[in-house]
Amino acid sequence: MEAPRWWTVRRAHSNRPATYRCPFCGGLLHAMSEHMVIAPEGDVEHRRHAHSECVAAEHRAGRLHTYDDWRKAQPRKRWFRR
Ligand SMILES: [Zn+2]
Repeated sequence: MEAPRWWTVRRAHSNRPATYRCPFCGGLLHAMSEHMVIAPEGDVEHRRHAHSECVAAEHRAGRLHTYDDWRKAQPRKRWFRR
């Protein structure tokens, strides 16, 4: 799969006794802890659960772009093409 151009990122926590594996550090995270759900280009079928601090670190490092980041980086002509 090609690297997604952007991710949707939202805060999540649930009451389910599930554990997930963070795609950034490979560590486990508990559904009941405050964490993030990220979805490649909004594709919720492929959403991943990740540590909030790992998502923040990836974002700071420029390896994870939110939709807003991506949209701002696009040349204006893309949107005003005739
Ligand atoms: Zn992590």
